[in-house]
Amino acid sequence: MAAVKRIYSFGGGKAEGNRDMKDLLGGKGAGVAEMSNIGLLVPPGFTITTDVCVAFYKGGKKLPKDVLPGVEAALRKVEALTGKGFGSADDPLLVSVRSGARVSMPGMMDTVLNLGLNDRTVVGLAKRSQNERFAWDSYRRFCAMFGDVVLGMKPERKEDRDPFEVILERKKRAHGAKLDAELPVSALKELVVEFKAEVKRRKGIDFPDDPMQQLVAGIEAVFRSWDNERAIAYRRLNAIPAEWGTAVTVQAMVFGNMGEDSGTGVAFTRNPADGRNEFYGEFLVNAQGEDVVAGIRTPQKISELAARFPEIARQLEDARAKLERHYRDMQDIEFTIERGRLYLLQTRSGKRTGLAAVRIAVEMADARLISREEAVLRVDPAALNHLLRPIFDDAARLRAVDEGRLLARGLPAGPGAAAGRVVFFAEDAEAWKARGEQVVLARHETSPEDIRGMNAAQGFLTAFGGMTSHAALVARQMGKVAIVGCEALSFDYHARTMTVATARGPKVLREGDWISIDGTAGEVIEGSLATTPSEVMQVLIEKTREPSSAPVYQQFAKLLGWADRARRLKVRANADQPDQATVSVAFGAQGIGLCRTEHMFFGEGKIGPMREMIVAETLAERRAALAKLLPLQREDFAGIFRAMGGRPVTIRTIDPPLHEFLPQDPDGITELARATGKSEVHVRARIDELHEANPMLGHRGCRLGISYPEITEMQARAIFEAACEVAAEGLEVQPEVMIPLVGAKKELEHQAARVRAVAEAVFAERGARVRYTVGTMIEVPRGAVCAGPIAEVADFFSFGTNDLTQTTFGISRDDVGTVLQSYLENGIYEVDPFVTIDREGVGELMRLAVERGRRTKPNLKIGICGEHGGDPSSVEFCHQLGLDYVSCSPYRLPIARLAAAQAALREQAAAHPVKPARPAKANGRGGEKARATNRALAVPGVKPAKEPRKKRTRARPQARA
Ligand code: PEP
Ligand code: MG
Repeated sequence: MAAVKRIYSFGGGKAEGNRDMKDLLGGKGAGVAEMSNIGLLVPPGFTITTDVCVAFYKGGKKLPKDVLPGVEAALRKVEALTGKGFGSADDPLLVSVRSGARVSMPGMMDTVLNLGLNDRTVVGLAKRSQNERFAWDSYRRFCAMFGDVVLGMKPERKEDRDPFEVILERKKRAHGAKLDAELPVSALKELVVEFKAEVKRRKGIDFPDDPMQQLVAGIEAVFRSWDNERAIAYRRLNAIPAEWGTAVTVQAMVFGNMGEDSGTGVAFTRNPADGRNEFYGEFLVNAQGEDVVAGIRTPQKISELAARFPEIARQLEDARAKLERHYRDMQDIEFTIERGRLYLLQTRSGKRTGLAAVRIAVEMADARLISREEAVLRVDPAALNHLLRPIFDDAARLRAVDEGRLLARGLPAGPGAAAGRVVFFAEDAEAWKARGEQVVLARHETSPEDIRGMNAAQGFLTAFGGMTSHAALVARQMGKVAIVGCEALSFDYHARTMTVATARGPKVLREGDWISIDGTAGEVIEGSLATTPSEVMQVLIEKTREPSSAPVYQQFAKLLGWADRARRLKVRANADQPDQATVSVAFGAQGIGLCRTEHMFFGEGKIGPMREMIVAETLAERRAALAKLLPLQREDFAGIFRAMGGRPVTIRTIDPPLHEFLPQDPDGITELARATGKSEVHVRARIDELHEANPMLGHRGCRLGISYPEITEMQARAIFEAACEVAAEGLEVQPEVMIPLVGAKKELEHQAARVRAVAEAVFAERGARVRYTVGTMIEVPRGAVCAGPIAEVADFFSFGTNDLTQTTFGISRDDVGTVLQSYLENGIYEVDPFVTIDREGVGELMRLAVERGRRTKPNLKIGICGEHGGDPSSVEFCHQLGLDYVSCSPYRLPIARLAAAQAALREQAAAHPVKPARPAKANGRGGEKARATNRALAVPGVKPAKEPRKKRTRARPQARA
């Protein structure tokens, strides 16, 4: 049997790998291979596969022995292509060692640069480059990086700086140097000695000088970094399975720090913040790549490159066009200029805000670079939230400017508006959030260690770094509001203060002070500013803006229009009030999937009669309370029917977990006593009597209606009277009455009979009929298992996956927090099953219910109305199960529409795999869909439907943060 290939070489105009091998080579490895294949100049190297990473962990975190000969052989090829020797004292080959997972995890794992340097090779490097300063500068950088990444030299306390930074700062002070570049060569040489001594002092080991030993240690360190704290946190946030592992790419170094004719940069082929079709990026002259990404020095704009390096700017523009044509997507590239020669180091699909994702997808489809189906697949459904998020109110902003509260401007890295109390440490952001505070995290710069705090904050603000710094990338990925490179800020972490250099002098902000950040305009404002709805919301919901003057809205509507054409699943909303129904229609609801009738009483002045009904002790008392509820419900139902304009409305009979509705506070008890004409003592005793140890498993759902059929009857009357009233106005109505928490056919028979009897009575009284149906929720395991007989009585099913998850797992929905945290931390669940359907358990019960229900009634309409209905992965699962619709909260409807379309397109692609080709006509018709979808499946950010998900489903409960 042929040995499994574990190392893939590239360079010299060809590669053993290609773009389709991300699973094995990681995004980076696949990208450099592909760029070599299409004739872009890439420094040669090789990629060690993700399989080796898996073997590394299985083998006790050691590089498998049989990998080493392959590494040596691949190294020989690089030597041949570069003409240099690894470890050569004459003309040394230096390499970078980089991580690269299947999907990009910006900055979460480690990198080592300039590997191969020691006291001998540095002399060869100095000689060959004829630049002693460069050679020693590279060497001191290598020592620091290797010390940090491979040898684990970290600051001792969080307030402390990097130990090598401290030595460097001391050295600069001693030489009166402001910049690193002002240090003399002698100082760089001293730094190498001092760095190594620091390693010896703190770690008790000699810094390794043998290049091969360095390389093995470097590769192992990068593999290890797959499991560092920040990578684990990032994986959890982005549902990346731990078993994927990272690849390692070892590549010949090219140097952007060889002098004033050298440089390095990163660029996006389109603007990643707003999606504009412009080359967007940054570069630094005489610097190494990490300087740009780490955001230590604020770089120059790519538009200024032509002035300095006109020929390079032209070549880069060509590469931009070539890569966009080839990948047919916005790319994020890294490049280095070494002595006037342009090298490309990386290309990958660029991270972008939701705003940019929609614009790029729509414009590329309009330009026929991609098909409309691909455009639909390109946008992560959750990213649509960016387009719905509030912005600062104009008047409030102007007032703040007049009052001198506009403190500073920075780069607008993550659009939207956020206000919060300022904190300076990521741990504080997490802790403050946990105690209910809204925070903005402000720092010199962020690092991957800060990831959890960044997630907890409303937004973040940094003093350093450009649009491609860590903070900016993470903001785009997480959809956070962010400003970076705000140079007016300086920090005193010990004093927990931030000083802003304003035109009126320095302004000191302390931890806990309120600030507002506008990630669209890049403005930092003192205090908490009022917000206003986004452009999409202004058009759709507020109706304060004309669509023709709202370009963002137009792109949003276009994309969702394409999605609607592609999807099979219908989308409905969970809405309990007429105004919510109106919002739902604006967001594209095709019906209401769940009207929780008990929620209709949450409103002002309505909870009283509901409580009276619950505490009633006799039938007469209950009827009296119900008589008060009837007109309230009827009015709301009529409002909902009118707002829904003939679309189906599923109304669920009352399902109040009693503890949510009974008063606990003295005022509430006094009020209830007054309303019922009973003593407070009596009311309190009745509340105690109704107390349940497990209210979620208690007297709720159809159980209540069975104990007190008059409640169901009142509700049915309200529904049918409202329906007749609206029908009499000439409007269409489609009521669907839904009975909750059914586990047995007889429960449904009991309740359905009451509903139908009331319907007939109302129709007889009104002399008119309306079409209606009676169905049930499937939300306890017994209901799923007994779906066959239940379907004999039900006109439809709707999965209540909140309760179905609760009862299948046996974990209380109300108390899940602590269990969940521990389970997520221990890797027992990958993600929260209350957020994403657990396909393996809950999902199997759903499958069973669909099969059994439809065996009884082949055309049984089936939907879902649990919270999962707005979660993209769960929507995909519902599509796969053959449900008719998903129902979710109104604001998640755009997400559900897009996710439903993506599920349909992926299914088509899986059924008709066609080799992707450039679309001849991007008109969204004909046999285009399958081709388009096949390609889009490979786009990061668009979750591959099939292979990773299925794998995880078998492995453990399926869920996503
Ligand atoms: C459910 O259980 O999924 C459901 C929709 O009902 P509720 O959340 O009201 O219990
Ligand atoms: Mg329920």
